[in-house]
Amino acid sequence: MRTEKLLPQAAKLSPTLPNLLIVLSGPSGVGKGTLVQRYLEAHPRTFLSTSATTRLPRSCEQDGVHYCFLEIDRFQEMRKRGELLEWAEVFGDLYGSPRRPVEKALAEGRDVILEIDVQGGLKVRQAIPEAVLLFVLPPTFEELSRRLCARRTESPERIEFRLQTARLELQALPQYDYLLVNDRLEEAVAAIRSIVEAERHRISRIVPKQEGDWLK
Ligand code: ADP
Ligand code: 5GP
Repeated sequence: MRTEKLLPQAAKLSPTLPNLLIVLSGPSGVGKGTLVQRYLEAHPRTFLSTSATTRLPRSCEQDGVHYCFLEIDRFQEMRKRGELLEWAEVFGDLYGSPRRPVEKALAEGRDVILEIDVQGGLKVRQAIPEAVLLFVLPPTFEELSRRLCARRTESPERIEFRLQTARLELQALPQYDYLLVNDRLEEAVAAIRSIVEAERHRISRIVPKQEGDWLK
């Protein structure tokens, strides 16, 4: 048998691995922000989307860095113009992912991370089915409560509201692709790295279905 029958063209044997749109969700205080920062230190080309929100900034937060803090009218204007990839009301405030920076980073071949709530995650799944959805859980609810208190950014009432919401958010778990338990931080970061690498090598992302006969 002729070798060219067995082997496709050399170029096809080393296809470019795809970049990914990654959604990271999970209860407030579980450690999403901490995990993402740790991941970005090792993968600086990954683009972290800066969300828009109508929430007031915390004392440690900078406009344009942690969030783009907007008046409600401005947020609604963006939403109506279709400038948000997804948006949701979370804990009484509006949050959304600006579409253009995400599309630009993806077009540049960069991975993009959206750190967003489950309502937003499910909207992304509908709009972009190939997105990879990761759900982060704490080792226990007691530990989640401890982390939220230790962060000292929320009043006791707001902490209680966030803990109640955490139990509701869990209902979306079956619609996510991967579960991470953020117990030991380094292990959770390593798990994200493994998932991203495995997804990059998924055959359906590399070889379009209609080219399934590429080895003939
Ligand atoms: P989120 O972004 O999900 O709201 P944060 O990243 O702000 O959560 O983390 C909440 C608190 O938990 C922070 O004080 C952070 O330092 C702490 N934290 C995060 N991950 C861990 C972990 N694996 N073990 C212990 N504490 C953690
Ligand atoms: P926080 O106010 O603690 O920064 O965030 C509250 C919640 O809003 C978190 O669950 C966070 O993931 C979520 N969130 C942040 N940005 C966005 C966004 O752009 N879209 C959606 N849907 N949720 C977001």
